[in-house]
Amino acid sequence: MRDIGIDVEVPTGEWDGDENCPFHGSLRLRGQVLEGTIAKIGMQNTIVIERNNVRFMQKYERYEKRTSALAAHLPSCIGEVSLGDRVKVMECRPLSKTVTFCVVENAGGVL
Ligand SMILES: [Zn+2]
Repeated sequence: MRDIGIDVEVPTGEWDGDENCPFHGSLRLRGQVLEGTIAKIGMQNTIVIERNNVRFMQKYERYEKRTSALAAHLPSCIGEVSLGDRVKVMECRPLSKTVTFCVVENAGGVL
């Protein structure tokens, strides 16, 4: 198992031979580490996470909430995930048109 260079728990799930796995395969991670909530599952090895951004709007003197969606590769060794789980993703090379991040840790659901 490879050391991916950031402090995350090593996943315990089974590896399915996917080369695009930072722990077992040859996928190299670099760049940004982001956290989000799983908003969409069901695609093969891909999930969509949502991130909340709160920013101040000068004109209305109010805070504005925005969410942004981000597609990420889900290596099989991360194991089962469900909607609402908090996950950590890290930037990698583009794996498809929309996927440039890979899930590196699942913190599970937050109550
Ligand atoms: Zn793996």
